[in-house]
Amino acid sequence: MLNPPVIIEAVVPLYLDAVYNYIVPADLGTIKVGMRVLVPFGKRTLTAYTVKTGADPVANLKEVIAILDREPLFTSTELDFFRWAASYYMHPLGEVLKTALPGGINIIGKKQQAVLADGTIVCDEVLSGGRTIKQETFYRLAPLQPQCRPLQGRKLATVELVLATGEMPALQLRRATNIDAAGLRYLVENGWLTAETREVYRDPFRDLPTTPDTPPALTADQELAVCRLQDSLNQGKFSSFLLHGVTGSGKTEVYLQAISHALAQARSALVLVPEIALTPQLVRRFRSRFGSGIAVLHSGLTPGERFDEWRRIRRGEAAIVIGARSAVFAPLENIGIIVVDEEHEASYKQGDGFRYNARDLALVRGKMENSCVVLGSATPQVVTWHAAQTGKIGLIELPKRVRDLPMPETVLIEMRSKKGGAFSTELVTAMEETLASGGQTLLFLNRRGYATYLVCQDCGHTFRCPNCAVSLTHHRSKNRHYCHYCDYSIPAPSLCPACNGSDIVLLGRGTEKVEDEVLELLPSARIARMDKDTTGGRGGHSRILTQVENRQIDILVGTQMVAKGHDFPGVTLVGVISVDASLNLPDFRSAERTFQLLTQVSGRAGRGTQPGRVLVQTMAPDNYAITSAINYDCKGFCEQELKFRAELDYPPFSFLALIELSSTSEAAVNKSAQKAAAELSQQKRALHGRVNILGPAAAPLAVLRGRHRRQILLKAKHRNDLHQLLKSTKEALDLPSNVRLTIDIDPLDM
Ligand code: ADP
Ligand code: ZN
Repeated sequence: MLNPPVIIEAVVPLYLDAVYNYIVPADLGTIKVGMRVLVPFGKRTLTAYTVKTGADPVANLKEVIAILDREPLFTSTELDFFRWAASYYMHPLGEVLKTALPGGINIIGKKQQAVLADGTIVCDEVLSGGRTIKQETFYRLAPLQPQCRPLQGRKLATVELVLATGEMPALQLRRATNIDAAGLRYLVENGWLTAETREVYRDPFRDLPTTPDTPPALTADQELAVCRLQDSLNQGKFSSFLLHGVTGSGKTEVYLQAISHALAQARSALVLVPEIALTPQLVRRFRSRFGSGIAVLHSGLTPGERFDEWRRIRRGEAAIVIGARSAVFAPLENIGIIVVDEEHEASYKQGDGFRYNARDLALVRGKMENSCVVLGSATPQVVTWHAAQTGKIGLIELPKRVRDLPMPETVLIEMRSKKGGAFSTELVTAMEETLASGGQTLLFLNRRGYATYLVCQDCGHTFRCPNCAVSLTHHRSKNRHYCHYCDYSIPAPSLCPACNGSDIVLLGRGTEKVEDEVLELLPSARIARMDKDTTGGRGGHSRILTQVENRQIDILVGTQMVAKGHDFPGVTLVGVISVDASLNLPDFRSAERTFQLLTQVSGRAGRGTQPGRVLVQTMAPDNYAITSAINYDCKGFCEQELKFRAELDYPPFSFLALIELSSTSEAAVNKSAQKAAAELSQQKRALHGRVNILGPAAAPLAVLRGRHRRQILLKAKHRNDLHQLLKSTKEALDLPSNVRLTIDIDPLDM
């Protein structure tokens, strides 16, 4: 029996707020919420997502061209979550869905229509067929072997040996037996082998060796932590905790054991980690404990691997998902526990397009799924700390390192009186001692490149990016000057382009130069550098980490990449070349960021058998962010910082939203910014003035990639007021087409 035609509501993966209705002709099959459909859209053909079936009939509805899935891609619970995120971040649902689903499954434009015309439907069935699914042929020995031996008798003997224990995929078999494709075909045709072609997953950690581990005996604090998480898992209701544990206190072990409890309840686990921490080392730890039922989602995967990992999760074949930011949308069901590791990391926030914060969404999803949400960090956000102090979330503390390891000894080195060089004599001596004793050193500087400021001594010409309001950085390995914001670059000229003078000086210091200077100071040391320039390409950064782990490197120079989460037992010295740049950023969170960075990088020292020490060079030795970090005084720092926040009415004492206007035309953006501010003031009256409007002002980077940027900051005591004001203003505001308006709810950078 044919289905009656159904009217659906669908959204498209474009920056459009609207919902569109279509008729699904009866002969196309059954349509359900969560399935993609191919639809006519203006002059184009688009993939759309079905978000409702059984909508009311309206005149002149267009027909769906094809149903693209046989199983829904998302459940209605997931759809509720996506809707919530779309509404909270004021972003179109279609784009939210595009972010939530693996890339490459959407059909936009004409190209794929041609594919359809010749009868093939792209991604016909995402769950068990279609184009992006990888297939492989597997060979086995035929159960009944033919009587006569073929010509290649000796080769056949090898095949029999190789396949004695089971099947093998084609490529591997060819390598093992030295038989080519035609040879294999011959063996199949003559009845020696059977061949079966079937779907295989592209496994991103295929080559990762793992040995099962036994959980260590927990410390008393860990034991308490795990107990509290187990208790709340047993309740089966939503709960949330800050797991505040100093660096090296064994937070990961707490996650592992709590996850183990969730799995025992037949529930699943979602683990969010900052992109940078998603190394084979971490995945190996999880695999050693839980075996292969783990899926991994992050930007380092190929699209095929990502797609396959996503399908394994959708099919319930992976009960644990470890992933970066976007994994908060993973198609896991029945989530028992959600871990947000290093919850203070800014990388949980997506900086453009759909500007969501995965740490915050983890709490929302946890609420919908009745999960236990654990926010872990040695340096929690001030906002999270406050939530734990006021009882909004539970607080679990691990105040000591495991195995009674002491926290590293820390020393401040005042650099105001020292001219020029990157290295104080104290730091040089410490590096020499560390090298002599066989320990490893980490050197931290938050700037990459060689020199960060270039100026002609003769005429004062400076090298600036033509697209952004910043100076270029010299990179010596490439002998070019680069913009770190838009990647614009020029070959380093030997003469000044303004006056032809030859006296161009390179000022400011980046990691490339520090590496050079260390090489000069300690020529016998094995030195490596870890920053965006040396970790390009797949696996680049885990290669360096493995070298450090295997003690093939004595001194590692790097940016914040070296500060985060790594567990290197050999590191006994951490040298901070300078943190002053991060302290001087024009952002109300700069003290918080500096405190976190310093504490995190210090935490890399002394995690093995030898105690560690940390030397921090600074021009601002009295700053409370620096002194609190040196004294491991997270409580003291947060209390001080909360006082400032209260005085200035910043989060957690208010909520923020940032409106950004940008345009290639400076005049247009200025005019629109004024207009927007006026509209906000107008609309605000309806809210009895409960929102503070600050601006318009130039954005910290007033020009970026050729676009002039202005911003307006909104502050309010209640989130609702912010949302109402933004909605009514957005509706009323009419901006010229050359001006782009973006809204950032709970902005992190401003
Ligand atoms: P954190 O994430 O808090 O910085 P980790 O979880 O990485 O700390 O733990 C630091 C080190 O201590 C790791 O090498 C881990 O294997 C080890 N470890 C964790 N818990 C224990 C324990 N109870 N006994 C012994 N070693 C432990
Ligand atoms: Zn630029």
